[in-house]
Amino acid sequence: MTERAYDLVVIGVGGMGAAVMFHAARRGMRVLGIERFDAGHDRGSSHGVTRILRLGVHEGADYVSWAQRARDLWLALGDEAGEVLFHPCGSVDLGPPDSEIVRGSRAACEARGVPHEVLDAAALRERIPVLNPDDDMIGVLQPGSGMVACEASLMAHVALARAAGAEVRCGEAVVGWEADGDGHRIVTEAGEHRAAAVVVTAGAWAGELVPELAGLIRAERQVVGWFHPDDPAAFAPERIPCWILDGPLGHFYGLPVHGIPGFKLARMAHEEEIDDLGAPVRPPEDADVEDLRAVLRRWFPRADGPVASLATCIFETTPDRDFIIDRVPGRQAAWVAAGFSGHGYKYCGAVGEVMAALVAGDAPALDMSAFALGRFAALGAGA
Ligand SMILES: Cc1cc2nc3c(=O)[nH]c(=O)nc-3n(C[C@H](O)[C@H](O)[C@H](O)COP(=O)(O)OP(=O)(O)OC[C@H]3O[C@@H](n4cnc5c(N)ncnc54)[C@H](O)[C@@H]3O)c2cc1C
Repeated sequence: MTERAYDLVVIGVGGMGAAVMFHAARRGMRVLGIERFDAGHDRGSSHGVTRILRLGVHEGADYVSWAQRARDLWLALGDEAGEVLFHPCGSVDLGPPDSEIVRGSRAACEARGVPHEVLDAAALRERIPVLNPDDDMIGVLQPGSGMVACEASLMAHVALARAAGAEVRCGEAVVGWEADGDGHRIVTEAGEHRAAAVVVTAGAWAGELVPELAGLIRAERQVVGWFHPDDPAAFAPERIPCWILDGPLGHFYGLPVHGIPGFKLARMAHEEEIDDLGAPVRPPEDADVEDLRAVLRRWFPRADGPVASLATCIFETTPDRDFIIDRVPGRQAAWVAAGFSGHGYKYCGAVGEVMAALVAGDAPALDMSAFALGRFAALGAGA
Protein backbone atom coordinates (compact mmCIF):
# COMPACT_ATOMS: atom_id res chain seq x y z
CA MET A 1 0.00 0.00 0.00
CA THR A 2 1.44 3.40 -0.96
CA GLU A 3 -0.11 6.42 0.68
CA ARG A 4 -0.43 9.87 -0.83
CA ALA A 5 2.43 12.30 -0.31
CA TYR A 6 2.66 14.47 2.79
CA ASP A 7 4.59 17.65 3.36
CA LEU A 8 5.82 16.20 6.65
CA VAL A 9 5.91 12.85 8.38
CA VAL A 10 6.54 13.01 12.12
CA ILE A 11 7.96 9.73 13.45
CA GLY A 12 6.90 9.21 17.07
CA VAL A 13 3.87 10.94 18.58
CA GLY A 14 4.86 11.46 22.21
CA GLY A 15 4.88 14.92 23.73
CA MET A 16 7.34 16.28 21.18
CA GLY A 17 5.85 14.69 18.08
CA ALA A 18 2.34 15.85 19.00
CA ALA A 19 3.63 19.43 19.33
CA VAL A 20 5.47 19.26 15.99
CA MET A 21 2.29 17.96 14.33
CA PHE A 22 0.25 20.80 15.81
CA HIS A 23 2.59 23.59 14.76
CA ALA A 24 3.21 22.16 11.28
CA ALA A 25 -0.51 21.62 10.63
CA ARG A 26 -1.17 25.19 11.77
CA ARG A 27 1.24 26.36 9.08
CA GLY A 28 -0.93 24.61 6.50
CA MET A 29 1.33 21.59 5.96
CA ARG A 30 -0.14 18.19 5.16
CA VAL A 31 1.12 16.27 8.17
CA LEU A 32 1.16 12.61 9.11
CA GLY A 33 2.20 11.50 12.59
CA ILE A 34 3.15 7.84 13.01
CA GLU A 35 3.15 6.25 16.48
CA ARG A 36 4.10 2.65 17.28
CA PHE A 37 1.83 2.48 20.34
CA ASP A 38 -1.36 4.48 20.95
CA ALA A 39 -1.62 8.22 21.57
CA GLY A 40 -0.93 8.89 25.24
CA HIS A 41 0.48 5.39 25.97
CA ASP A 42 2.58 4.66 29.07
CA ARG A 43 5.62 2.98 27.45
CA GLY A 44 7.64 6.14 26.69
CA SER A 45 8.47 9.40 28.46
CA SER A 46 5.37 11.60 28.26
CA HIS A 47 2.79 10.01 30.61
CA GLY A 48 2.28 10.47 34.36
CA VAL A 49 -0.26 13.35 34.38
CA THR A 50 2.00 16.29 35.28
CA ARG A 51 5.41 17.86 34.57
CA ILE A 52 7.37 20.68 36.18
CA LEU A 53 8.03 23.83 34.19
CA ARG A 54 10.72 25.94 35.82
CA LEU A 55 11.83 29.11 34.05
CA GLY A 56 15.34 29.29 35.53
CA VAL A 57 16.72 25.76 35.44
CA HIS A 58 19.95 24.34 36.82
CA GLU A 59 20.58 22.78 33.40
CA GLY A 60 21.73 26.20 32.16
CA ALA A 61 20.72 29.74 31.22
CA ASP A 62 20.39 28.74 27.54
CA TYR A 63 17.14 27.03 28.44
CA VAL A 64 15.43 30.10 29.90
CA SER A 65 14.16 31.59 26.64
CA TRP A 66 12.86 28.14 25.62
CA ALA A 67 10.97 27.80 28.92
CA GLN A 68 9.51 31.30 28.65
CA ARG A 69 8.27 30.70 25.12
CA ALA A 70 6.97 27.26 26.08
CA ARG A 71 4.98 28.66 29.00
CA ASP A 72 3.30 31.19 26.70
CA LEU A 73 2.47 28.39 24.29
CA TRP A 74 0.98 26.16 27.05
CA LEU A 75 -1.23 29.05 28.14
CA ALA A 76 -2.37 29.67 24.56
CA LEU A 77 -2.96 25.95 23.96
CA GLY A 78 -5.04 25.74 27.14
CA ASP A 79 -7.17 28.70 26.04
CA GLU A 80 -7.77 27.06 22.71
CA ALA A 81 -8.44 23.60 24.12
CA GLY A 82 -10.72 25.02 26.81
CA GLU A 83 -8.84 23.45 29.73
CA VAL A 84 -6.09 24.43 32.14
CA LEU A 85 -2.86 22.93 30.78
CA PHE A 86 -0.44 25.13 32.74
CA HIS A 87 -0.99 25.61 36.49
CA PRO A 88 0.92 28.68 37.76
CA CYS A 89 1.88 27.16 41.13
CA GLY A 90 5.51 28.39 41.03
CA SER A 91 8.57 26.28 41.77
CA VAL A 92 11.22 26.01 44.44
CA ASP A 93 14.74 24.65 44.08
CA LEU A 94 15.91 23.29 47.44
CA GLY A 95 19.30 22.38 48.82
CA PRO A 96 22.38 23.74 50.56
CA PRO A 97 23.50 27.05 48.98
CA ASP A 98 26.41 25.40 47.17
CA SER A 99 24.42 22.43 45.81
CA GLU A 100 24.32 21.92 42.07
CA ILE A 101 20.58 22.53 41.67
CA VAL A 102 20.39 25.62 43.87
CA ARG A 103 23.53 27.19 42.41
CA GLY A 104 22.49 26.38 38.83
CA SER A 105 18.90 27.58 39.07
CA ARG A 106 19.93 30.74 40.87
CA ALA A 107 22.59 31.49 38.26
CA ALA A 108 20.10 30.96 35.40
CA CYS A 109 17.55 33.27 37.07
CA GLU A 110 20.18 35.93 37.66
CA ALA A 111 21.67 35.67 34.16
CA ARG A 112 18.30 36.02 32.41
CA GLY A 113 16.41 38.26 34.83
CA VAL A 114 13.89 35.60 35.89
CA PRO A 115 11.96 36.87 38.93
CA HIS A 116 12.90 34.81 41.99
CA GLU A 117 13.36 34.98 45.74
CA VAL A 118 15.98 33.20 47.82
CA LEU A 119 14.53 31.93 51.11
CA ASP A 120 16.32 30.44 54.12
CA ALA A 121 14.96 27.42 55.99
CA ALA A 122 12.87 29.49 58.41
CA ALA A 123 11.25 31.46 55.57
CA LEU A 124 10.64 28.24 53.65
CA ARG A 125 8.81 26.72 56.64
CA GLU A 126 6.62 29.78 56.82
CA ARG A 127 5.92 30.00 53.10
CA ILE A 128 5.42 26.26 52.47
CA PRO A 129 4.06 24.82 55.73
CA VAL A 130 4.08 21.17 54.53
CA LEU A 131 7.84 21.37 53.83
CA ASN A 132 10.27 20.50 56.62
CA PRO A 133 13.62 21.75 55.22
CA ASP A 134 17.01 20.95 56.75
CA ASP A 135 18.42 23.94 58.64
CA ASP A 136 21.16 24.44 56.05
CA MET A 137 18.77 24.39 53.10
CA ILE A 138 17.77 27.42 51.09
CA GLY A 139 15.14 27.65 48.38
CA VAL A 140 15.07 29.51 45.07
CA LEU A 141 11.40 30.35 44.66
CA GLN A 142 10.26 31.20 41.13
CA PRO A 143 6.67 32.47 41.08
CA GLY A 144 6.46 32.37 37.26
CA SER A 145 7.07 28.62 37.07
CA GLY A 146 4.39 25.96 37.31
CA MET A 147 3.01 22.60 36.34
CA VAL A 148 2.09 21.33 32.88
CA ALA A 149 -0.69 18.77 32.48
CA CYS A 150 1.37 16.53 30.21
CA GLU A 151 -1.13 13.87 29.17
CA ALA A 152 -3.91 16.42 28.63
CA SER A 153 -1.63 18.70 26.62
CA LEU A 154 -0.39 15.83 24.42
CA MET A 155 -4.02 15.00 23.64
CA ALA A 156 -4.81 18.68 23.01
CA HIS A 157 -1.93 18.95 20.53
CA VAL A 158 -3.09 15.83 18.69
CA ALA A 159 -6.75 16.88 18.64
CA LEU A 160 -6.01 20.40 17.43
CA ALA A 161 -3.50 19.13 14.86
CA ARG A 162 -6.18 16.78 13.53
CA ALA A 163 -8.68 19.63 13.47
CA ALA A 164 -6.16 21.51 11.29
CA GLY A 165 -6.01 18.58 8.86
CA ALA A 166 -3.20 16.41 10.24
CA GLU A 167 -3.51 12.62 10.24
CA VAL A 168 -2.19 10.31 12.91
CA ARG A 169 -1.63 6.58 12.59
CA CYS A 170 -1.23 4.70 15.85
CA GLY A 171 -0.13 1.11 16.37
CA GLU A 172 2.18 1.39 13.37
CA ALA A 173 5.95 1.30 13.92
CA VAL A 174 8.29 2.88 11.39
CA VAL A 175 10.85 0.24 10.41
CA GLY A 176 12.95 2.40 8.09
CA TRP A 177 13.09 5.52 5.96
CA GLU A 178 15.16 6.43 2.91
CA ALA A 179 15.65 9.10 0.27
CA ASP A 180 12.98 9.06 -2.42
CA GLY A 181 13.66 11.63 -5.14
CA ASP A 182 13.81 14.95 -3.36
CA GLY A 183 11.77 13.60 -0.44
CA HIS A 184 11.51 10.50 1.71
CA ARG A 185 9.93 7.05 1.67
CA ILE A 186 8.90 6.00 5.16
CA VAL A 187 8.35 2.27 5.62
CA THR A 188 6.16 1.03 8.44
CA GLU A 189 4.96 -2.37 9.61
CA ALA A 190 1.76 -1.66 7.67
CA GLY A 191 2.92 0.01 4.46
CA GLU A 192 4.73 3.02 3.04
CA HIS A 193 4.26 6.76 3.14
CA ARG A 194 5.92 9.51 1.10
CA ALA A 195 6.75 12.95 2.41
CA ALA A 196 8.80 15.98 1.46
CA ALA A 197 10.23 16.25 5.00
CA VAL A 198 10.69 14.08 8.06
CA VAL A 199 10.99 14.98 11.73
CA VAL A 200 12.10 12.18 14.06
CA THR A 201 10.71 12.57 17.59
CA ALA A 202 11.08 8.96 18.65
CA GLY A 203 12.35 9.51 22.20
CA ALA A 204 14.40 6.60 23.52
CA TRP A 205 14.00 4.82 20.17
CA ALA A 206 15.53 7.66 18.13
CA GLY A 207 18.80 5.74 17.71
CA GLU A 208 16.91 3.02 15.80
CA LEU A 209 15.88 5.61 13.19
CA VAL A 210 18.90 7.92 13.15
CA PRO A 211 22.05 5.77 13.34
CA GLU A 212 24.22 8.75 14.41
CA LEU A 213 22.23 8.83 17.67
CA ALA A 214 22.53 5.13 18.45
CA GLY A 215 25.51 5.38 20.77
CA LEU A 216 24.41 8.69 22.25
CA ILE A 217 20.94 8.03 23.64
CA ARG A 218 20.73 5.77 26.66
CA ALA A 219 17.34 4.67 28.02
CA GLU A 220 16.94 4.68 31.82
CA ARG A 221 14.13 3.23 33.93
CA GLN A 222 12.45 5.74 36.26
CA VAL A 223 9.87 5.18 39.00
CA VAL A 224 7.27 7.76 40.01
CA GLY A 225 5.09 7.52 43.12
CA TRP A 226 1.95 9.26 44.31
CA PHE A 227 1.26 9.13 48.07
CA HIS A 228 -1.91 10.06 49.96
CA PRO A 229 -1.21 13.08 52.20
CA ASP A 230 -3.06 13.59 55.48
CA ASP A 231 -4.88 16.57 53.93
CA PRO A 232 -4.83 16.74 50.10
CA ALA A 233 -5.90 20.40 50.17
CA ALA A 234 -2.60 21.31 51.87
CA PHE A 235 -0.78 19.84 48.87
CA ALA A 236 -2.92 21.53 46.17
CA PRO A 237 -1.26 23.73 43.50
CA GLU A 238 -2.57 26.81 45.30
CA ARG A 239 -0.66 25.83 48.45
CA ILE A 240 2.60 24.23 47.37
CA PRO A 241 4.88 24.86 44.38
CA CYS A 242 6.61 22.23 42.26
CA TRP A 243 9.94 21.40 43.90
CA ILE A 244 13.36 20.03 43.11
CA LEU A 245 15.60 18.95 45.95
CA ASP A 246 19.33 18.38 46.09
CA GLY A 247 20.02 16.78 49.46
CA PRO A 248 21.87 14.00 51.26
CA LEU A 249 19.54 11.34 49.80
CA GLY A 250 20.16 12.48 46.20
CA HIS A 251 18.21 14.55 43.68
CA PHE A 252 14.41 14.35 43.87
CA TYR A 253 11.47 16.35 42.54
CA GLY A 254 7.76 16.53 43.11
CA LEU A 255 4.51 18.26 42.24
CA PRO A 256 1.28 19.31 43.92
CA VAL A 257 -1.73 17.01 43.96
CA HIS A 258 -3.38 17.05 40.55
CA GLY A 259 -5.18 14.40 38.51
CA ILE A 260 -4.21 11.46 40.73
CA PRO A 261 -5.23 12.06 44.39
CA GLY A 262 -1.68 11.80 45.68
CA PHE A 263 1.46 13.85 46.20
CA LYS A 264 3.79 13.01 43.30
CA LEU A 265 7.53 12.56 43.65
CA ALA A 266 10.44 10.78 42.01
CA ARG A 267 14.19 10.43 42.08
CA MET A 268 15.71 12.58 39.33
CA ALA A 269 17.95 9.95 37.77
CA HIS A 270 18.00 6.26 38.65
CA GLU A 271 20.91 5.56 36.28
CA GLU A 272 19.34 2.13 35.68
CA GLU A 273 19.88 1.41 32.01
CA ILE A 274 17.24 -0.38 29.90
CA ASP A 275 18.83 -2.90 27.55
CA ASP A 276 15.77 -4.01 25.60
CA LEU A 277 13.42 -1.26 24.45
CA GLY A 278 11.11 -3.90 22.98
CA ALA A 279 10.25 -5.27 26.44
CA PRO A 280 8.01 -3.56 29.03
CA VAL A 281 9.94 -1.69 31.72
CA ARG A 282 10.32 -3.61 35.03
CA PRO A 283 7.42 -2.53 37.29
CA PRO A 284 7.94 -0.57 40.53
CA GLU A 285 9.20 -2.62 43.47
CA ASP A 286 9.21 -2.22 47.27
CA ALA A 287 12.73 -0.77 47.16
CA ASP A 288 11.51 1.98 44.79
CA VAL A 289 8.69 2.86 47.19
CA GLU A 290 11.09 2.92 50.15
CA ASP A 291 13.44 5.23 48.23
CA LEU A 292 10.60 7.76 47.87
CA ARG A 293 9.25 7.27 51.38
CA ALA A 294 12.62 8.25 52.83
CA VAL A 295 12.18 11.64 51.15
CA LEU A 296 8.64 12.04 52.42
CA ARG A 297 9.59 11.09 55.97
CA ARG A 298 12.39 13.62 56.07
CA TRP A 299 11.04 16.60 54.15
CA PHE A 300 7.28 16.14 53.59
CA PRO A 301 6.14 14.03 56.59
CA ARG A 302 2.46 14.89 56.11
CA ALA A 303 2.52 13.18 52.70
CA ASP A 304 3.95 9.90 54.04
CA GLY A 305 0.62 8.08 53.62
CA PRO A 306 -0.52 5.05 51.64
CA VAL A 307 0.55 4.67 48.03
CA ALA A 308 -2.03 6.19 45.67
CA SER A 309 -0.31 5.12 42.46
CA LEU A 310 3.04 4.05 41.03
CA ALA A 311 4.36 4.23 37.49
CA THR A 312 7.50 3.64 35.48
CA CYS A 313 8.69 5.94 32.74
CA ILE A 314 11.78 6.22 30.50
CA PHE A 315 14.46 8.89 30.55
CA GLU A 316 16.36 8.96 27.25
CA THR A 317 19.62 10.61 28.17
CA THR A 318 22.47 12.07 26.14
CA PRO A 319 26.06 12.06 27.46
CA ASP A 320 25.79 15.69 28.67
CA ARG A 321 22.03 15.54 29.42
CA ASP A 322 21.40 18.36 26.96
CA PHE A 323 19.01 17.91 24.04
CA ILE A 324 19.70 16.98 20.43
CA ILE A 325 17.79 19.24 18.03
CA ASP A 326 19.40 19.29 14.63
CA ARG A 327 19.34 18.21 11.00
CA VAL A 328 19.74 14.49 10.40
CA PRO A 329 23.25 14.17 8.97
CA GLY A 330 23.39 13.31 5.27
CA ARG A 331 19.65 13.73 4.68
CA GLN A 332 17.72 16.43 2.86
CA ALA A 333 14.83 18.04 4.75
CA ALA A 334 15.08 15.83 7.82
CA TRP A 335 15.46 16.84 11.44
CA VAL A 336 15.62 15.12 14.79
CA ALA A 337 14.52 16.30 18.22
CA ALA A 338 15.43 13.73 20.87
CA GLY A 339 17.58 13.03 23.91
CA PHE A 340 15.44 15.15 26.22
CA SER A 341 17.22 13.61 29.20
CA GLY A 342 14.40 13.76 31.72
CA HIS A 343 13.77 17.50 31.48
CA GLY A 344 12.15 18.04 28.08
CA TYR A 345 8.39 18.01 28.51
CA LYS A 346 8.07 21.62 29.57
CA TYR A 347 9.55 22.69 26.22
CA CYS A 348 7.32 20.60 23.90
CA GLY A 349 5.40 23.53 22.44
CA ALA A 350 8.58 25.52 21.83
CA VAL A 351 10.27 22.50 20.22
CA GLY A 352 7.21 21.93 18.03
CA GLU A 353 7.23 25.54 16.93
CA VAL A 354 10.95 25.46 16.12
CA MET A 355 10.72 22.20 14.16
CA ALA A 356 7.77 23.48 12.12
CA ALA A 357 9.74 26.64 11.28
CA LEU A 358 12.73 24.57 10.16
CA VAL A 359 10.57 22.38 7.92
CA ALA A 360 8.99 25.50 6.41
CA GLY A 361 12.45 26.93 5.69
CA ASP A 362 12.08 29.76 8.21
CA ALA A 363 14.64 30.81 10.80
CA PRO A 364 13.59 29.41 14.20
CA ALA A 365 12.75 32.00 16.83
CA LEU A 366 14.90 30.26 19.48
CA ASP A 367 18.62 29.56 19.52
CA MET A 368 19.28 25.85 18.90
CA SER A 369 23.06 26.03 18.83
CA ALA A 370 23.51 24.39 22.25
CA PHE A 371 21.65 21.31 20.99
CA ALA A 372 23.70 20.58 17.86
CA LEU A 373 24.71 16.98 17.25
CA GLY A 374 28.19 18.15 16.26
CA ARG A 375 29.10 18.70 19.93
CA PHE A 376 29.49 14.93 20.18
CA ALA A 377 31.88 14.74 17.20
CA ALA A 378 34.64 13.52 19.51
CA LEU A 379 32.38 10.56 20.37
CA GLY A 380 32.01 9.72 16.65
CA ALA A 381 28.58 11.35 16.22
CA GLY A 382 27.42 13.23 13.10
CA ALA A 383 28.92 16.59 12.28
C1 LIG B 1 9.19 10.17 35.26
C2 LIG B 1 9.48 11.35 34.41
C3 LIG B 1 9.35 12.63 34.92
C4 LIG B 1 9.65 13.72 34.14
N1 LIG B 1 9.48 14.97 34.66
C5 LIG B 1 9.69 16.05 33.87
C6 LIG B 1 9.39 17.34 34.36
O1 LIG B 1 8.96 17.50 35.49
N2 LIG B 1 9.59 18.40 33.52
C7 LIG B 1 10.03 18.23 32.25
O2 LIG B 1 10.18 19.22 31.53
N3 LIG B 1 10.31 17.01 31.75
C8 LIG B 1 10.15 15.93 32.54
N4 LIG B 1 10.39 14.67 32.06
C9 LIG B 1 10.96 14.51 30.72
C10 LIG B 1 9.93 14.60 29.64
O3 LIG B 1 8.75 13.98 30.02
C11 LIG B 1 10.51 14.00 28.37
O4 LIG B 1 11.72 14.70 28.06
C12 LIG B 1 9.56 14.12 27.20
O5 LIG B 1 8.32 13.55 27.52
C13 LIG B 1 10.15 13.45 25.98
O6 LIG B 1 9.15 13.42 24.97
P1 LIG B 1 9.42 12.68 23.61
O7 LIG B 1 8.24 12.97 22.75
O8 LIG B 1 10.78 13.01 23.11
O9 LIG B 1 9.49 11.12 24.00
P2 LIG B 1 8.26 10.00 24.13
O10 LIG B 1 7.17 10.62 24.90
O11 LIG B 1 8.89 8.79 24.60
O12 LIG B 1 7.80 9.91 22.64
C14 LIG B 1 8.50 9.20 21.66
C15 LIG B 1 7.47 8.44 20.88
O13 LIG B 1 8.04 7.85 19.72
C16 LIG B 1 7.39 6.63 19.51
N5 LIG B 1 8.22 5.81 18.63
C17 LIG B 1 9.47 5.37 18.88
N6 LIG B 1 9.94 4.66 17.84
C18 LIG B 1 8.98 4.65 16.91
C19 LIG B 1 8.88 4.07 15.63
N7 LIG B 1 9.88 3.33 15.10
N8 LIG B 1 7.73 4.23 14.92
C20 LIG B 1 6.70 4.96 15.45
N9 LIG B 1 6.75 5.52 16.67
C21 LIG B 1 7.87 5.38 17.39
C22 LIG B 1 7.25 6.07 20.91
O14 LIG B 1 6.30 5.05 20.99
C23 LIG B 1 6.87 7.31 21.68
O15 LIG B 1 5.48 7.49 21.78
C24 LIG B 1 10.10 13.55 32.81
C25 LIG B 1 10.23 12.26 32.29
C26 LIG B 1 9.91 11.17 33.07
C27 LIG B 1 10.07 9.80 32.46
